[in-house]
Amino acid sequence: MTRHVIIGTGISGFAAAQTLRSLDPATEILLVSDDPHGFYSRPGLAYYLTGEIPEKQLFLFSKKGKLNLDVQHVKGRVTRIDPKSHSIEVNTSGTLAYDRLLLATGARAVPLDVPGADLQGLVKLDDLEDTRHILSLVRRTKTAVVVGGGVVAVELVEGLVAQGIKVHYFLRGDRYWPSMLSEVESRIVEGKLAHDGVTLHRHTEIGEILGKRGKVTGVCTTKGDIVRCDMVAVGIGVKPRIELAQAAGLKTDRGILLNEYLQTSDADIFATGDVAQIFDPVSGRSAIDDLWYPGRKQGRVAAFNMAGQNQKYQRTVATNILRLAGVMTTIIGAIGSGRDDGQVYMTRGSSETWQQLPNTIATEGGPEMSHLRLMVGEQTLLGALVMGDQKIARPLKEMINTRVDITPIREQLLQSSAQLGQLVMDYWISTKN
Ligand SMILES: Cc1cc2nc3c(=O)[nH]c(=O)nc-3n(C[C@H](O)[C@H](O)[C@H](O)COP(=O)(O)OP(=O)(O)OC[C@H]3O[C@@H](n4cnc5c(N)ncnc54)[C@H](O)[C@@H]3O)c2cc1C
Repeated sequence: MTRHVIIGTGISGFAAAQTLRSLDPATEILLVSDDPHGFYSRPGLAYYLTGEIPEKQLFLFSKKGKLNLDVQHVKGRVTRIDPKSHSIEVNTSGTLAYDRLLLATGARAVPLDVPGADLQGLVKLDDLEDTRHILSLVRRTKTAVVVGGGVVAVELVEGLVAQGIKVHYFLRGDRYWPSMLSEVESRIVEGKLAHDGVTLHRHTEIGEILGKRGKVTGVCTTKGDIVRCDMVAVGIGVKPRIELAQAAGLKTDRGILLNEYLQTSDADIFATGDVAQIFDPVSGRSAIDDLWYPGRKQGRVAAFNMAGQNQKYQRTVATNILRLAGVMTTIIGAIGSGRDDGQVYMTRGSSETWQQLPNTIATEGGPEMSHLRLMVGEQTLLGALVMGDQKIARPLKEMINTRVDITPIREQLLQSSAQLGQLVMDYWISTKN
């Protein structure tokens, strides 16, 4: 009987286990993880922090469902992979043999590297334990400083505001997420945050965290200004957990390098999710997606290949539907501005392909709170960002994914007076008839 070992109980590892079981009721599946809580929704942590959902809603799979899956759970940290002997070392249970191995080890939050970073009151939003930790500190916290760009930093801001905490949000540059958002879009998010009582500090970075009796009491900025606070929340980005793969001699770059079958440089070892760097045929480059649905799809495809059925992973256009400071936002494909905002690391809930600057002309329009930006290529749309009213998001996703020829409306799209949403909607409907 073939033994499949999966390291990681995130969405990609779990999807692989489900698929392996559906393909073969008898095959042996071991799920190894150092997260004591097993499989749960990581994007859901933001909603748990705001108090919109209870903790139990994070768990997407019932106990009964888990039992039906008939997998063996091994709680512990994998410390070594030995591809030659087809075995792994787990700190709690010694050596485990595998026939096929899946690395679904995800990414880990990058710590803030400043003096005082060991003080109590420094928090992050990366896993369930982190979220519980923040919630346990809420009662004694009046003021917090949040640092970082992208999705998670703003989710930290919103979560802390919802918990009644006064928030100072430090932006490294002149506006929020400039590598991804246009000026109008940044201002929409910032306006919403200001409306919620958040104090924005532009061109501001933490130089040192100040403390008393081991606890955070404030921060000193690199310019020497002091902001008093009881909590410092960090969302500066994540790094793929590639150390095991590197030490095992597998090919790595920013993530673990894979072929189109999600196979590493060792034929019996596969990788998926936030740790996977996969060839993108559209750009001709390998890219990482820190996104839930691509992780799930990769887990499924890897399982087919682990079970010996050759299935290629078809990379779809990276998409995320999220809430940025309360504003529903859909991001599809390449929407980057090409501007370097000093954001060194990837942020969760984003894709490296978003940052690519394609050969496009950006056109945007719409009143505030219902805003649309299109990245118009020679014959197709290459990216889009929709804020507020989401009616146009699905047609856009389909048009970008299937590379619908937009030549008949291209000139109109590029006119400054264009009603972009209506134009795209009418054209999309006409292509259906
Ligand atoms: C707050 C937050 C908000 C997010 N928002 C969005 C969003 O809006 N949209 C979106 O698409 N995505 C979002 N994401 C990202 C999304 O959740 C991830 O892309 C996805 O969960 C990645 O799944 P994964 O299977 O690759 O890894 P993970 O979920 O990171 O799981 C990795 C697993 O590997 C285990 N592991 C790692 N190393 C070892 C080891 N050596 N030994 C044993 N076990 C190990 C870990 O314990 C864990 O179980 C968000 C994430 C967070 C935290």
